[in-house]
Amino acid sequence: MSGIRVSALFRPLNSKEKTYHGDSINIRGIDSESFVFKDEKDEETEFRFDKVFFPGSEQADIYEFLALPIVKAAASGANGVVITYGQTGAGKTYSMEGPSIIQCDEKQKGLLPRVVDGIFKAIKSSDDIIKYTIKLSMVEIYMERVRDLFDRSKDNLQIKENKMQGIFVNGVTEISISDSAEALRTLSTGIANRAAGETRILILALNSGPCVHMLISYISQRSGFTPVLDTIAICYGSLYGKLILVDLAGSEKAEKTGAEGRVLEEAKSINRSLSALGNVINALSSPGRGSHIPYRDSKLTRILQDALGGNSQTALLCCCSPSPSNASETLSTLRFGARAQ
Ligand code: ADP
Ligand code: MG
Repeated sequence: MSGIRVSALFRPLNSKEKTYHGDSINIRGIDSESFVFKDEKDEETEFRFDKVFFPGSEQADIYEFLALPIVKAAASGANGVVITYGQTGAGKTYSMEGPSIIQCDEKQKGLLPRVVDGIFKAIKSSDDIIKYTIKLSMVEIYMERVRDLFDRSKDNLQIKENKMQGIFVNGVTEISISDSAEALRTLSTGIANRAAGETRILILALNSGPCVHMLISYISQRSGFTPVLDTIAICYGSLYGKLILVDLAGSEKAEKTGAEGRVLEEAKSINRSLSALGNVINALSSPGRGSHIPYRDSKLTRILQDALGGNSQTALLCCCSPSPSNASETLSTLRFGARAQ
């Protein structure tokens, strides 16, 4: 048990898949947590996860299960991360963003706009004396370089650590936001700056904190003087919650992409980064805890260090195609998820 909540998501069949295989799908649901998967050789394996989202699942349900507990935790100063994993075309970005983060109907809205709304809701309903500042940063990891998506001139940022923030990307652009609409506008500029293609890793960090002020008003009255109203601000300890949403690059094997040269190098770099993530997650879920967790093996795992493990909340969404034509990649995605539990 790793404390990582692992779900599998099967998107609806696309038209290409329907052309080749009609309506056939290679999963048979058992209940909301398990299903039987049929591989390329028609061998069946049962998989069980914390939750399974079958084709046609509601984006709202995915948010509620995956991200809402993490949003609440972040508003009270904990760290959390939601990760979408799977081959290119499996539905990672759609789950994160929906068809568009700015303009799409309520039903189709992805995790990202829902998380932003959720954060502002959580803050509104919390105690008035807690004053939050929320900052957004957005980076991508390309060939083991951390690039700022709000400022393309910053393309090799270093990862550092301090007492207040824990792990942080040094010098990354942080944009303060005060409402959902502003947050989404900001995010859409970052998304537009993301390099095209699937050989990229996108990381979004949403910080709540670091300032928690308590404002105390009191009347001081000294004999012979008019009463004066004083307000003092007491910082009674800060909450620093970090919520990270990771839309990983496609998990398909580098050799299988048929790529050459630079594109092959990119694919290999992604594979290394994803296997480093797998190794960290497996180390966290293996019984011999306290053993070495290889966070430093990749930029991705280093950035996620204090959001994976410990008291942090982690949710992994394994995105899959339900089509027999993608059986071998789907199996490897499901195995990645099964090992993470
Ligand atoms: P990935 O990010 O994993 O490469 P995408 O999220 O871009 O894949 O999805 C690939 C295609 O499938 C997109 O055209 C997207 O609109 C569609 N798609 C993915 N998930 C869903 C879903 N749950 N419902 C409807 N269409 C989806
Ligand atoms: Mg994508």
